Amino acid sequence: MATAYLDHNATTPPYKSVIELVARVMREGGNPSAVYGVGRQARGRVETARSQVAKLANARARDVTFFGSATEAHATLIAQFASALFLRPDSEHDAVLNSRPGIPIPLKSSGVVCIESLKNLLYSNSGPILVAIMAANNETGIIPDIETISQLIISAKVNNPKIHFHIDAVQAAGKFPIDFKAWGCDSLALSSHKMGGPQGVGALVTRPGFDLQPIIRGGGQERRRRAGTENVAGIAGFGLACELTEDMDHLIVLREHLERGLNAINPKSIIVGQDERRLPNTTCVINPGMSSEILLMKFDLAGVALSSGSACSSGRVGGSHVLQAMGINADFARSSLRFSLGRETTKAEVDLALDAYRDICS
Ligand code: PLP
Repeated sequence: MATAYLDHNATTPPYKSVIELVARVMREGGNPSAVYGVGRQARGRVETARSQVAKLANARARDVTFFGSATEAHATLIAQFASALFLRPDSEHDAVLNSRPGIPIPLKSSGVVCIESLKNLLYSNSGPILVAIMAANNETGIIPDIETISQLIISAKVNNPKIHFHIDAVQAAGKFPIDFKAWGCDSLALSSHKMGGPQGVGALVTRPGFDLQPIIRGGGQERRRRAGTENVAGIAGFGLACELTEDMDHLIVLREHLERGLNAINPKSIIVGQDERRLPNTTCVINPGMSSEILLMKFDLAGVALSSGSACSSGRVGGSHVLQAMGINADFARSSLRFSLGRETTKAEVDLALDAYRDICS
């Protein structure tokens, strides 16, 4: 049976050369904290990757810390601000939302952050404030105006230097250029398996001089910022993926073909954020009167792998929290599907998905 994997925002397959490098580094072995030759070789692998990640993010290598996932990177960063006011939109990923309670930054109905509301929140509160905003939404692909948000925060810092601006760049990296320096943020999280690296590796970039404290006490790895022996092979693979990654603009044509097809087959279907700046690979579609769970099962039977939101929330019956944060009603939020294309997705795969949708809707 022909199959189509259209869930690249959940995990995208690693580059072939990444798989080969991971295998080679695993064979090399060695603990990067050891002083003898094999240890130094492993250390070299980690440091090469640190430079590769830094280059992708336009940051300094020494400001990159490796973690076991972006979730852990977020958790570590957010834990530094236990007594700060925590501002974040309700559309953030669970990795941010569930780390600790926070105050929502309202969204416009189009899904982007409401700049006026953020400004009011920043200027009506004094003391330490942590602001966390994603550079691209994993479910809708909507890209907020990071440059304007950044300017707003930089201005607010003049009155209140205790504002920390954290960016979740997990879905942005590898899809469009990310730029730690130009974005004027204080920290930024990345995930390897969203961009052609292995699963189980994440990174946090922090502004020069930021004193990141580990959340688990143990050894002094990662300059005492993250205890535990490094996943050397995974980190090496992540670094190579950062070097290989290219933007995904070539996917816009395929995404438009998909969206035209969905709307033609089901005129009631609604493409979320259609008029907003979005990731080139992501389509979130509302299917009024249908259930995401049933749709997903039918697509699966037809050989098409999709999701209805973030992988971590599959099985959740309440519907997409991202769509609800945009003010979309719960029934619609329970009927959404996410198609996320990958760098090698073909028109034949998209057509298979459209054929399945036609069968389901008929
Ligand atoms: N942030 C966003 C936007 C994501 O899409 C994900 C994964 O789905 C994460 C964070 C968590 O990344 P990881 O799987 O590395 O913990």
